[in-house]
Order: sequence, then C-alpha cells, then structure tokens
Amino acid sequence: MVHTSGVVSRAELTARTGLNRSTVADLVRELSQRGLVAEGSPLATGAPGRPSPSVTVRTDGIYVLALDVKVDSVAAATVSLGGHRLASKRVARPRSRRDISTVLDALAGLGTELMEELPDTQRLVGIGVSIVGLVPRSDAMVEVTPNLGWSDVPLAEALRARLRRRVPIVVSNDGDAGALGERVHGVARGIDDLLYVSGEVGIGGGIIAGGRALGGAVGHAGEIGHTLVDPQGEPCRCGARGCWETVIGEAALLRRAGLPEDGGQRAVSQLRGAALRGDDAALAAMEAVGRWLGLGLAGLVNVLNPQLIVLGGLHGEFHRFLAASAAEELERNSLVARGSPTGIVPAMFGVDSSLIGAAEDALQPLLRDPMTWPSWNAGDTSPDGFTGAISVE
Ligand SMILES: [Zn+2]
Repeated sequence: MVHTSGVVSRAELTARTGLNRSTVADLVRELSQRGLVAEGSPLATGAPGRPSPSVTVRTDGIYVLALDVKVDSVAAATVSLGGHRLASKRVARPRSRRDISTVLDALAGLGTELMEELPDTQRLVGIGVSIVGLVPRSDAMVEVTPNLGWSDVPLAEALRARLRRRVPIVVSNDGDAGALGERVHGVARGIDDLLYVSGEVGIGGGIIAGGRALGGAVGHAGEIGHTLVDPQGEPCRCGARGCWETVIGEAALLRRAGLPEDGGQRAVSQLRGAALRGDDAALAAMEAVGRWLGLGLAGLVNVLNPQLIVLGGLHGEFHRFLAASAAEELERNSLVARGSPTGIVPAMFGVDSSLIGAAEDALQPLLRDPMTWPSWNAGDTSPDGFTGAISVE
C-alpha cells in the first residue's frame, strides 16, 4: 500500500487494511527497520483528532533493474520502491543490427552502467525484463519475436551471464508489462478492467480483467496485433494475412502518409512534424489508422468490456490525431461500447510503460513478503546484493 501510494498516513493504513492501530504501528516499525519505509511528520489533513505520522517509501534502500527491448531501442532503469526511477536511459538501435548478442550486449552494458552509478549501500533485489515477443509464463525463454526475428532465446540466462548479479530475473511480454506499469503507477491507477495497446513496429497488448492480468493457458494472451481484421489484407510478419498490425502498425501509418514504410524513427519524426504543422496527408493517414484502430478495438471491447483503453507507444504519442476517429468507429461497431462508454487515453509513461512494468514485476517477490527480506543495515555488504530467502533461479 505504501509502495503504490508513495506517501500515506498511519491512520489511513489502519482504515484501509482494517488492522488495528498497534498492528499497523508494529508493521511500519518492522518495514522501517528493514530500510523499506520511513516515518515522517504528520500529513496536513485538516481532520480533527491526534495527527497521524506519515509513512513514505525509502528510495535509497533497495532497487530493481528494469530492462526493455523494443525493435528500435533498448532501455534500462534503476527503480526504487514507489516506482521512482533513480536513473533511466533509452538508446536507439539500428534495425539492421538485430543479432541477439549485439542487442543483449548493449542492453546489459546499459544496465551495468546505471547500476554502477548507485552507492554500494543501495541493494539490488531483482531484475525485470520486458521484450516485444511471446514469453510463456512458465520460464524465462522468449519463444518468438516476429519483429526482431528471434526465436527460442533463453533471455534470462543470457542476461544473467552478462550482468553477473545473483538476483531473480523476471521476463515478460512488453504489452503485459506496459499494462502493469500504467495500472500501478500511471494513467490507469485503480482500474481493474483495462486494455493496454502497445503500438510501435508491431502491435502488442496487455489485458487486466477483474484486477488480474489475463495470461491465458501458457501466458500468451494479449497478442491483439495478430487478430484478423481484413482477410484480403497485407501479409503479416507472423505468417498470417490481414492482421490488425498490418493496418495500424508503424508501417501502415507511414505508408498512408506517403513516407517510406521502413523509414524507422526518422520517418516517424517526419510524420510527427507534418501532423503538428497540420499537413493534410499526415492528418488523413492518422484519421484512417484511427478508424482501423477503432474497428479492432470494437471487437476487443465486445469481448472484454474494459473500463479504460490505454494507448502506449506510437498510438499514445499520436493520440490527439487518431483518438477521435478511433472512438467514433469503436462506438459504431461495438454494442458494449455503446452501452458503457470506454475511455481511450494515452499512456502516462509513453514508450516507457513497459519499462515501469518490468520494474514492478521485479519488485513483486519483495512486495509479496517484505518481512522475509534481510535487513541490509545489519552489515551485509555482499557485492551481489542478495542473501534473501527467495531462491535464485
Ligand atoms: Zn500477424
């Protein structure tokens, strides 16, 4: 609760947990001894009665390393409790250089650089990785990433060898991570039914239903970019034809705007400039892609009835240009959307939603049971930063 609130009074913790006051005081004391939270002066609430001390997360105690692999870039962040980014860096990568070792070397290099900036007293407790690809729930193997051209990559193992840290490594799909990041710290806080659409070269998604991430039988649920919307459409990188990705992905947007569809970030920034200037071709392309976006969303909304649709990546960035036509098409084609209006909003963290989500994944073991975590004020200065009760994979 303190992690997601950032700062909260002890009285509010008591009210929200239903525990009694002395239990909450004991728990706060224990968490504080472990360097996870700090007690401060009372929050000004204006309420009558004895003021209650505030409890905040410590950002100088533990941290996790979050890593993110996209088609055009790799990113790393060191993140403390409360989801605070201590440092964060994204580096563009040429699409021509996608071989696995090169990308993982760059990613691990970035992560190591950020970890080395932190003092020895700050302890690493986990590593979370988000990647544009299919990641089964049961292991840290990446099955396939059509847009990177990789298959069967033992990602956790490969990164462990490069990072040399003895902490758990959690790998997740970027759509799932994005949904989590936006739900815990972003624009979808407190939303239990959420559809997150992650748009860049490919289209990914993350679904939260009834407060839980929807994984499916093996964890592949949410590959919304490969739902069929046009049987006579363009071939898709996944091997099928007419997937949603082929009509709303980056290539489709650039092609419609008269720009080279494989033009990458350079072409995307030309498109951005043109749209901001009010260029007709750019705006027409956005409008048309918005219609396909709304059409695909209509099917998803009929199935999922989300409270909120969060557009991440490319579509989040271009939200203001394509949301109107998307909303119109959504309402026209979805019985459910007509009955219960569904907001379409841009992600708060832009391209970094999945990076924030990867950090959240890595924090989960500690958050589930912070009391099993050893106190690092007790003289343990192991450089691996790990002596906890959680087993290392
Ligand atoms: Zn496809």
